[in-house]
Amino acid sequence: MSGIRYFFKSFMLWELLTGLRLTGRYLFRKKFTVQYPEEKAPQSPRFRGLHALRRYPNGEERCIACKLCEAVCPALAITIDSHRREDGTRRTTRYDIDLTKCIFCGFCEESCPVDSIVETRIYEYHGEKRGDLLMTKEKLLEIGDKVEAQIAADRAQDAFYR
Ligand code: SF4
Ligand code: SF4
Repeated sequence: MSGIRYFFKSFMLWELLTGLRLTGRYLFRKKFTVQYPEEKAPQSPRFRGLHALRRYPNGEERCIACKLCEAVCPALAITIDSHRREDGTRRTTRYDIDLTKCIFCGFCEESCPVDSIVETRIYEYHGEKRGDLLMTKEKLLEIGDKVEAQIAADRAQDAFYR
């Protein structure tokens, strides 16, 4: 009996009609595709894009060289060297993130006790040589300075999710 049913279904192109019915159901619905780069998809305040190092409003670096981010990074992408300043505080002399290793897991951001290393909303970047994707302390601070307002707004909003 099932053999006969199968024969008639094949004969009437039943699978094709089932597929076309599904296509027809979505034909006039609102489309989810966007015309990138003119249009951009909405981003969450927790978006994990390019990294940045932040400063306090007085210009002082937030990072205290505790190396928690370096220890927690599963991809071993972070390298930190530090020194003790005359006032007894500790600061980094080197803070590198190798983006060719980074898996954008966000663990560094989660582990930082002073909200220094963060992942921004920036995702439009590229490197043409290997060195272009090695983020040095200077580059990370520069990004932080550039998008600090957005980072602060996202962190304030992000508290809602924690
Ligand atoms: S996002 Fe994850 S993989 Fe990338 S540097 Fe931070 S901890 Fe390492
Ligand atoms: S970025 Fe944060 S976690 Fe990493 S060394 Fe600096 S203070 Fe510590």
